[in-house]
Amino acid sequence: MLVCWLVGKEECSQRMKLPHLEAVIIGRGPETGITDKKCSRQQVQLKADCNKGYVTVKQIGVNPTSVDLVNIGKDEEVKMKPGQVLYVVNKLYPFMVEFAEESGKTVAEAEKKIQTNKMLHEDSCEDDDVELVPRKRIKMEVVDTKGSSANPNLSKTIVSSPSSKKEHLEHWSQGLKSSMQDPEMQVYRDEETVVIKDKYPKACYHWLVLPWKPIPSLKSLTRDHLELLEHMHAVGQRMIEQCPARQSLEFRLGYHAIPSMSQLHLHVISQDFNSPALKTKKHWNSFTTDYFLNSEDVIEMVRSKGKVLVRDHIAECLKLPLRCHHCKKQLSTMPQLKAHLMKHTPK
Ligand code: AMP
Ligand code: ZN
Repeated sequence: MLVCWLVGKEECSQRMKLPHLEAVIIGRGPETGITDKKCSRQQVQLKADCNKGYVTVKQIGVNPTSVDLVNIGKDEEVKMKPGQVLYVVNKLYPFMVEFAEESGKTVAEAEKKIQTNKMLHEDSCEDDDVELVPRKRIKMEVVDTKGSSANPNLSKTIVSSPSSKKEHLEHWSQGLKSSMQDPEMQVYRDEETVVIKDKYPKACYHWLVLPWKPIPSLKSLTRDHLELLEHMHAVGQRMIEQCPARQSLEFRLGYHAIPSMSQLHLHVISQDFNSPALKTKKHWNSFTTDYFLNSEDVIEMVRSKGKVLVRDHIAECLKLPLRCHHCKKQLSTMPQLKAHLMKHTPK
């Protein structure tokens, strides 16, 4: 039997068990550490379904409770899955949910045991994570933060729906093309682009900005794409602007020199790299070495050279020793690196 944990993202010590199908009410109080008067003592009701792998979240308090970018609404409910972030009130006080076997293994680890055939390719290692449940239909709104008017087109509304099984029939490298069309994955869209949350986020915040137009990869880019690349960059920046943690986290926007997934995608990733999906040296080096091409440098290269030139043997970057991206300290293993990164985490 799995057990569900509510885990505070700000204070590692905050960890609450959510018993199977029992309503638990949280809010201002010692159990959450929230002292903010805007938060009711009975702000949110949580009910975990350990069989189905989700938590039903109901806003009880007056001020908004949200899951990711979505305000739930008073007396409304949404389903929340691992990987999503619950903000108890006013986009503050983030919590996540985790399902673990009583032994302490996470669901992803447990499911891995029966997923032995999924590693079709080294780059598809993301595939060892699985969708647990289709989410209920919810209305998602990209919040227009006051005073930020980089692109007025950006405050659009998106409606989500249950995901299709279609992607499982396709080759893994085509997965982004399915995801970008899936309203449930979309957090923003406009005429040119769509933003989805990375399915296997390598940090607290990890979005992918994709053009609607089919563009297989960086190699296909020409000067004709300059405007689009600039727009993708602006959309990425706007995602950061409306991120509740923007003041405490740094972000980078960029492309993998040799992407594993088809369809051009701009990574917008927070630099905490605090994520269970960040598992391997290859993951780490792909975001912290020259393998990660800054969006602005790519735009500049397309402007000056008319194409993206990737230096020979760039894949060697993926084999470099593990090095902290903040202080450059070298670490021997991923667990050591992850423990070290906690030292740089803002308290
Ligand atoms: P890359 O092709 O190396 O630039 O990275 C592809 C990114 O897509 C990785 O960060 C994966 O975690 C992510 N990813 C893989 N499959 C999917 C999917 N089906 N939907 C959304 N994101 C995905
Ligand atoms: Zn360091």
